[in-house]
Amino acid sequence: MDIHYMKRNKPTIIEGNFLKSSLADQPFPRDIQGDICLLRIYIKDGSIQRITNISEAEKDFQSTEAVRINIPQNQVIVPAFVDCHVHLVLDGIHGFRKFIGPVSDEILEQRLNSVIFAGVAAVRDGSDHFNTGIQAKELCKRILGSSTPGKEEPGSEHLPMSCFPEVVTTGWAIYREGHYGAFLGRGGIREVGEVRNKIRQLNEAGVDQVKVAQSGLVSFNVYGETDPAQFTLREMKEIVSIAGDYNLPVMVHASSDEAVRIAVEAGAHSVEHGYFVSPRTLERMAEKGVSWVPTVAPVAAALKEAESTGGQQGRVNPEVLKKTIQNHLEKIQLAHQMGVLIGIGTDAGSPGVGWDSGYWQEMGYYARAGLSVETILEMASRNGAKILGLHEDMGTIEVGKKPYLISIKAKSLKDMERFQGPLSVFHCTG
Ligand SMILES: [Zn+2]
Repeated sequence: MDIHYMKRNKPTIIEGNFLKSSLADQPFPRDIQGDICLLRIYIKDGSIQRITNISEAEKDFQSTEAVRINIPQNQVIVPAFVDCHVHLVLDGIHGFRKFIGPVSDEILEQRLNSVIFAGVAAVRDGSDHFNTGIQAKELCKRILGSSTPGKEEPGSEHLPMSCFPEVVTTGWAIYREGHYGAFLGRGGIREVGEVRNKIRQLNEAGVDQVKVAQSGLVSFNVYGETDPAQFTLREMKEIVSIAGDYNLPVMVHASSDEAVRIAVEAGAHSVEHGYFVSPRTLERMAEKGVSWVPTVAPVAAALKEAESTGGQQGRVNPEVLKKTIQNHLEKIQLAHQMGVLIGIGTDAGSPGVGWDSGYWQEMGYYARAGLSVETILEMASRNGAKILGLHEDMGTIEVGKKPYLISIKAKSLKDMERFQGPLSVFHCTG
């Protein structure tokens, strides 16, 4: 895996194959035939300035000093990915069950670097007791602030400090006292009147979105079983409305059709997990423009673990997990057909969900659900950027956006089920 460092103060010209569907609806290049087009893009001051056909004469772009990057023919350049659901506090092995304390900045930095290697340019942290999302944001700011532009050597072993994804945070989750979510938040809600104060505190802490735990986890040994919904429709509406006063979108952890339906009808911004959602509720999601982040990876990881330890192991029944995953994949396909905006989220950090491979596995599951490669890549970039509120900067390859780009094997466009990550990542430094 290569990293192409692009210094802000140095113009860069990238030439290579680009995925046409990732070029957004801009006047250029309409004349191009096929899925892939050979293009030249000009980057300056940290943003894409111009996109031209490669056969066009090179326009003046301080070409004497521009850095030139040529991507080989067997690769395709696509927008970098977005992971809509991670838990930076978790190690990917133990999960919340062995969750004892805050992570060190050093470990956090390693996790953020792994994310970059996975091809992911932005993550949304799904909250924890220690507010690791904000810790990550501050860490990035501190390190970026102290790094000297131009200090890093291209190709050096150690990533320059500025190789961090964008981090969108939710701080501490809102959950009902005595229900699922104690490790995601800091004290549960006893009555809905407390919500305003909570959200005010979250806003002061600098969160970008509000996370609400509306149900527990799906059962790993009884098919279709989930906890009851934590908040009534009236309460959820109140939460969404107060968050709206602070311009904070609400992401709702919800499995079971009832829990999802309440989130959707209350006008939540996105539904996380959404196991056992009904076609009718998906229809409402499409109508109301509520996004969905299905997170197949944590259940798939539990299945893998159960199978490797020889099948049925008390709390985990592999057959139940298989059925749960199959049902979820069918819902993903259905939701896509209905026009629900789906983003890719891994729940990275959960047991068995790695900080890099977790994302590729999640994409692989979408391929198994029957989605086309172009659709999966669009969900990974364009939809994810929208869900995180970062669509002005990333998600498509477009003039005015930042060059959050990666290159993948051209062969991957034929087979996303076994996707093994990007071949190179472009990163702006300094
Ligand atoms: Zn989560």
